[in-house]
Parts: sequence; C-alpha cells; structure tokens
Amino acid sequence: MSDDLRVNTIAVDGPAASGKSTAGQLVARELGYLFFDTGVMYRAITLAALEAGVSVFDELGCTKLAEETQIDVQPPSIEDGRLNDILIDGVDKTWDIRTPEVDANVSEVSTYAGVRSALTAQQRKIGVRGRVIMVGRDIGTVVMPDAILKIYLDASAEERAGRRHHERIERGEESDFEQVLSIVQKRDQIDSSREVAPLCAAEDAVVINSDQMSIEEVFEAIMQLVREAGLA
Ligand code: C5P
Repeated sequence: MSDDLRVNTIAVDGPAASGKSTAGQLVARELGYLFFDTGVMYRAITLAALEAGVSVFDELGCTKLAEETQIDVQPPSIEDGRLNDILIDGVDKTWDIRTPEVDANVSEVSTYAGVRSALTAQQRKIGVRGRVIMVGRDIGTVVMPDAILKIYLDASAEERAGRRHHERIERGEESDFEQVLSIVQKRDQIDSSREVAPLCAAEDAVVINSDQMSIEEVFEAIMQLVREAGLA
C-alpha cells in the first residue's frame, strides 16, 4: 500500500438515503475536495439498460453497457437542486437516474461482477488522485481500501425512507411513503447480501448512526474525524 493513497481520500459508505451524499458534499466543500457519488454510475447503467430494452436480469447485456457507456459528471448547468450534471453518452440524465423505476432496479444491476469491475476501475482512477470524498457502498472495502479515513453512515430504514420521500415532495414529484420504504428495504437486502462487494462497514471504518442527528450534526461529526485524521 502506498503512502500516497493513504494521504487524503475519504471513503463514506452506507445504505440508501443515509445522508452520505448531503454530508459528503458539505465536507468536500469545506475541505476543497472533489465530491464523487459512485451510486450515480450504477444508476446510469441501470437507466441505460431500461432505455435500451436490455433486461436488468441480463448480466451479460448489463456488463456490456457498463463497459461501453460514457458517464460524465460535470458542474451543474441549471439551478434546480442538482449537485452535478450527469451525462449519459452526452445526454443530460440528471433526474432520470433518480426515478422510482431506477431505484427499484439498480440493486439488481449492481450485483453483477462485470458491471462492478468496469465501474470500480473508473472510480479508482479518480480516487487515487487524492483530495476526494467518495461515497458509495464498497469504497472502504473494495474501491479504496487504502483510504485514510473511512466512515460508515447508517440510519434506520424508516428514517431513510422518510428523507427520500420528503426530497421527492420538495421537488414537486409524487411520492408514496410506503412504496419508498419498501424499495429502500429491498435495496438494503440486495446490497447487503450480494456476493461481490456487499454493503458492509470496513473493519477500520468509524460507524455513525444518524437517526437522531440533523445534517449539521452529521457534518460536524465527520469534520471531527477529519481533524483527528490530520486532514484539516
Ligand atoms: O447511493 P445510491 O442510492 O445512489 O446508489 C444506488 C445503488 O447503486 C445502490 O443501491 C447500490 O445497489 C449501488 N451501488 C453500489 N456500490 C456503490 C454505489 C452504489 O453497489 N459504490
């Protein structure tokens, strides 16, 4: 393991809607680090499959898409609440990757070893440059095992589904809490039980349960760890 890799890559893993992206983005801004949400890539391949009529149960078809699809993450071009523009083969799909249909299918696509190795390779290239906060499910365990600081952000399924539900309502979309909860629980189950790179805390990760915490408190808790790690 090279010392360079250990210097300043921060891994934040955790289940769906645990606040990883919101907290990670705030910390990245504070430190002047790049924020990289790896879930975007799995969502992009899932959407590409749905749009191309490739079944999400077709492992080879999904792997081919993961190897051939160009996913770009760029600074936001529109002020509509987006963190970035997400382009799939050059087309803006920022909100299309966040629909209930993608939510309901993304965990299946993420179980495929070929999909994971194609996307992990791209993620690692960005991670090893350093000064990056990477958010996902397997960053501390698989993508960046050398990260200097690993955080596992947890919360109950009800709390997480509630947050997702309110985000949707705020964006003016329709949302049904029970449906959101059942999708969150199904994704948890598939993400935690898959054979390749299952969702779990790395042995050296610090676990934060955000159930009773505001986003500001989560931000502060992470910043405390960042200071202890000598990164700020
Ligand atoms: O974080 P987000 O909810 O956007 O992730 C969508 C899905 O992508 C997750 O439910 C998981 O199946 C998959 N994922 C993954 N590994 C990552 C990031 C996301 O398997 N590093």
